[in-house]
Amino acid sequence: MSTLFISDLHLDLSRPEIIRQFENFIRDEAVQADALYILGDLFEAWIGDDADSEIGQRFIDAMQPMRDAGRPAFFMHGNRDFLLGERYARKAGLTLLPDPSVINIHGTPTLMMHGDSLCIDDETYQAFRTLSRSPEWQRSFLARTTAERQAFADAAREESMRHTRDGNNETIMDVNQKAVESAMHKSGVYRLIHGHTHRPNTHGFQLSGPSAERIVLGDWYEQGSSVNIKAGP
Ligand code: MN
Repeated sequence: MSTLFISDLHLDLSRPEIIRQFENFIRDEAVQADALYILGDLFEAWIGDDADSEIGQRFIDAMQPMRDAGRPAFFMHGNRDFLLGERYARKAGLTLLPDPSVINIHGTPTLMMHGDSLCIDDETYQAFRTLSRSPEWQRSFLARTTAERQAFADAAREESMRHTRDGNNETIMDVNQKAVESAMHKSGVYRLIHGHTHRPNTHGFQLSGPSAERIVLGDWYEQGSSVNIKAGP
């Protein structure tokens, strides 16, 4: 019994080595697990299921061993691929999960999030997040041509790189501990798994008494990264 978690692969045709690592990861490791959870930013960018996407097809092909083995794969939106919809998910054999979601992993209720909603000190980003998750914004964005959407995504990526580079210190770009605790309280859990910050670690702390943990998944910019939770003896 084992459950695998990954996030922040940022799959993109410009990084073929990472695509190959992902194909190997699925074929050699993920097919052995009981379930695979992808907690957002699977793709570097996603401008809509209707846009022809070669990287989208590569992912569908890479997931074939999972579908053949009948292993379930779940996907939660990240800030790069929040427009990934039911239509593509069905083709890829992914079940969409809301952010946040709670699952019971081998007896331990566990909260899963992408993690961007916990970075509440980054007000510029939170304002954009609220706007871009509204059905109105998404409807009008998806009504534009794919060329216009691609141009918007490229500009947003530039802007986000600039935002990370200047004037925004490490603390602002990380999760806020109060937001972490409040999310865990609300869900009644003592374990949280998230990605987004690209700072893989396990943080232990007291959550109003009992000990709690926050597992942060790593990104795939340089190499594969996953967390495997096995059923304890
Ligand atoms: Mn992210």
